[in-house]
Amino acid sequence: LAVPVTRTPETALAAAAVAVPPVVGARLAVPLVDGRRVGYANLDHAASAPCLEAVRDAVDELLPWYASVHRGAGFASQVSTKVYEQARAVLRHFVGARQSDAVVFTRNTTDSLNLLAKALPKNTSVVLFDTEHHAALLPWRGPRVHRIETPASPGDAVLALDTALSGCAVGPRLVVLTAASNVTGEIWPVAALAEVARRHGARVVLDAAQLAPHRPIDIRALDVDYVALSGHKLYAPFGAGALIGRADWLNAADPYLVGGGATAQVVDWGDRLGVAWSKVPERHEAGSPNVVGAHALAVACETLTRHGWDAIGEHERALLRRLRSGLATVPGLRGLSLFGPEHDRVGVVSFTIDGVEAGLAAAVLSAEHGIGVRDGAFCAHIATRRLLGRVGAREQRALRVSIGLGTTAEHVDRLVAALRSLVADGP
Ligand code: PLP
Repeated sequence: LAVPVTRTPETALAAAAVAVPPVVGARLAVPLVDGRRVGYANLDHAASAPCLEAVRDAVDELLPWYASVHRGAGFASQVSTKVYEQARAVLRHFVGARQSDAVVFTRNTTDSLNLLAKALPKNTSVVLFDTEHHAALLPWRGPRVHRIETPASPGDAVLALDTALSGCAVGPRLVVLTAASNVTGEIWPVAALAEVARRHGARVVLDAAQLAPHRPIDIRALDVDYVALSGHKLYAPFGAGALIGRADWLNAADPYLVGGGATAQVVDWGDRLGVAWSKVPERHEAGSPNVVGAHALAVACETLTRHGWDAIGEHERALLRRLRSGLATVPGLRGLSLFGPEHDRVGVVSFTIDGVEAGLAAAVLSAEHGIGVRDGAFCAHIATRRLLGRVGAREQRALRVSIGLGTTAEHVDRLVAALRSLVADGP
């Protein structure tokens, strides 16, 4: 039994009441092999970002005290409830949500978008671009789903959305937007698209999975209605994400899951049960919630905010410049892009190299150079294949390199040298 020796329930409760645990810094918990730091170059942050030290410490501190929330009088339950509700407050602040917005904890972005899809009012028209990640592309079903072929410029995307919304049937409307592409890293013109949506009386849900670790998100400034994000992309472990946004549709919908926690009251009416469902957020959080995951996610959000978006942006932009000028020296490399190579992007770059099979290249980079990248179609098959076609690639798979807080210039240089030697000498 992990009994904390330095903290009593009283001090734990007092600490939880003040704030989330103090930020240790935006350093990463570097993996150790046989007690030594490994020289692993993780260039796959877009898939999942490694845990921050501050997050690991916060989780360690909470582990002896987690218990079921909202239902226990014991100290551990009180601590957990406090920590869980504080995590909700941190998430609200992190995305600049309105006071009336609901913050529902989910497992990840996929879960958040599926929850919203199930909560749409009857006959909602859904409009989206076809290059979305599958998590944003697939949850919407029925004849009122309008898929727009992604145009080659942001301005044309704005016009295409306007046209699509003009053609929607009368009734509620939802526009699904991705803030930053997980294939190319390109940042979508969210504010301009949201403005078009507003003009047509449509709501907007933002898939912020890729943007949230790199840039501040502000629901009110962007004028969007919902934001979905994942903890594991934000330097916290797997298992916690959030859907944040307007409470009315979520309150009117059936619970996402049914069970304890989502119920205000259950009574036996003889032939059937009478159930009064709770309001959000509990309505959509049936079952024992992931308190530790929510706490980890919240500490990650706080740590990134305190580290500062300017510092994060500066670090990433310098490395991205270095990466892109290095990649430009690799013979036969063709970069993928939705809106053109100069378009603003987070630290994600995808490409193909003539004569070098992406899967094999990724395996060699890992085995011989200690570099982790991603290969494939990145759960965005339509986008990846279309962009590969645009650059005349024969393959259906690309390589993706993505940088983050743990990336160094040495990682970037090692990758570029490895790719050059792959081209020169073969795998
Ligand atoms: N949206 C985008 C843009 C993503 O990059 C991802 C994950 O790669 C997702 C959604 C889905 O995230 P998760 O797997 O955490 O649900």
